[in-house]
Amino acid sequence: MKAIMYHYVREFNPELPNFRFLDVENFQKQLDFFEERFDFVSKEEWLEVLISKKLENAKKKVLLTFDDALSCHYEYVYKLLKKRGLWGIFYVPTQPYQKNKILDVHRIHLLCGAFDGLDLLATLGNFLDKKMIPDEKQKEFREQTYTRQTNYDGVTKFKRILNYFVNYKYRADLIDLVAHKLNYTFQFSDFYVPVDKLKEMQLTGNIIGSHSVSHPVMSKLTKIDQEIEIKDSFGYLSTNIRPDVKTYCHPYGGFHSFNDQTVKVLEDSRVEFSFNVESRDICDDDLVSSIQFLPRYDCNEFPFGKAS
Ligand SMILES: [Zn+2]
Repeated sequence: MKAIMYHYVREFNPELPNFRFLDVENFQKQLDFFEERFDFVSKEEWLEVLISKKLENAKKKVLLTFDDALSCHYEYVYKLLKKRGLWGIFYVPTQPYQKNKILDVHRIHLLCGAFDGLDLLATLGNFLDKKMIPDEKQKEFREQTYTRQTNYDGVTKFKRILNYFVNYKYRADLIDLVAHKLNYTFQFSDFYVPVDKLKEMQLTGNIIGSHSVSHPVMSKLTKIDQEIEIKDSFGYLSTNIRPDVKTYCHPYGGFHSFNDQTVKVLEDSRVEFSFNVESRDICDDDLVSSIQFLPRYDCNEFPFGKAS
């Protein structure tokens, strides 16, 4: 069986000329492709697979997942799936709902969508201080940052500095400073799916799962902090959405993004299944041995799945 991961599915927005997203038209073409080639697993079939630990008739089918509770998941995805009689699993980071603030990972996407990569990099350079980069990363930072670059390079480096080089405690302030300098205001109100819409999606046959509280790289956290991220996010969901299935998805994904402690917390919390990002089909063995990190393809690995 194939699980597919999606993020932004939307239409071109002239306010974000450089924004990377899957166009709604291509999303629909990809659904057509999956339907013709593989067909979709129904929610009932999937729940049955989890109980029996056997794929059986679902072996060739496709399951759709959507990360980050982005507003387009209600505006476009949910409505299109509903029209086709399909369903999906939607993974929600809960901090935006608890703090009314856009996550740093998404604020970086917005800045990269709104501005030229080299402008972003130059602006960030004004506020960067050596003390913000841990000693062990200084050399790598010098080598990678001050080389000749293209616009696209600028975006890559801008993201890499904020996501990889700087100590996380400076990150939010740096993003604020860059946005302020470039006169950009983040609009929280329409960035995520509102909570009542998540509830509607849940009640109409979709599954709403946890994607942690603040979308950190979990493997960087202590076990206690990982526990807080996982338990608090499920706490928020069970109070406000009341999902009928307990499922989780690793922020960022890939085997570097979580560790054995994460898996232990998921098991102790009686999470039924979790998704990772790994480019291969789910097989029967995974339902036993990899149930807390099931493999999942990026949509860009299939026809019509490339970002615009
Ligand atoms: Zn995510």
